[in-house]
Amino acid sequence: MALSQNLNVLVVGGSDSSGGAGIARDIETISSLGLRTCVAVTAVTVQTHHAVGHIRHMQPGLVADQMRAALQANAVAAIKIGMLATAQIIAAVAAVLRENPRTPAILDPVLASSSGRPLLESSAIDVMKRDLMPLCRLVTPNLIELAVLTGSELAAGDDDALRQERRLLAEGPQALLIKGGHAEGPRSTDILLSRGREPIRFDMPRLAGSMRGTGCILASAIAAYLATGDSIEKAVLQAKLLVFEKISKNPV
Ligand code: PLP
Repeated sequence: MALSQNLNVLVVGGSDSSGGAGIARDIETISSLGLRTCVAVTAVTVQTHHAVGHIRHMQPGLVADQMRAALQANAVAAIKIGMLATAQIIAAVAAVLRENPRTPAILDPVLASSSGRPLLESSAIDVMKRDLMPLCRLVTPNLIELAVLTGSELAAGDDDALRQERRLLAEGPQALLIKGGHAEGPRSTDILLSRGREPIRFDMPRLAGSMRGTGCILASAIAAYLATGDSIEKAVLQAKLLVFEKISKNPV
């Protein structure tokens, strides 16, 4: 599927040596949709598919400089943001977003690896909520991230998830997509909530397998579809279908 070779998505995030998540997944996803990527690396992580070893954070100024150079060099039509590591890196990324208010940014608020290793300092969570989320067109937490971001227990069902989502939306983001992949039950429901609009539910059968990097794939694909001019709803639907197809083909 080739969308447009001339459009770029700027990917801001951490590298994962295993290739299971992070910028390797982002680039793979966006290029599978026919768009180009440019990158700003926030951290280098040493990982296998089961464990995270050493993590090296980039200097905040280096992250901002990579972003500015990428934006100067290319026609960047969307920005996808993943692992941010520290409050200082968040501040640097927010500064560049403020300089480019017309380019939509999609934030996957990565807090920890599946193996439980923190990928964002806990003291940076409030900074992310206050200084970065309001600048993003869409923020895509899973249920675990939603609970941490709202200081709640893990949502017990869709109604509870929607209550937490409304609370988080009131704190600044323009729109939220809550991913139900970590819930139980035969179906997996994601809920899109935008300011002043009714929630939109995206409901899929839950697949038996699991796969690393699905959050990266989803947010990258949404960014790619938004870059081509699709609405948020259409971008989310197509990105969900892409993740579903990838999990069905690659269930480990
Ligand atoms: N490493 C990096 C650099 C990431 O960006 C992410 C998630 O976005 C992860 C690891 C976590 O991936 P997983 O949940 O598949 O372990």
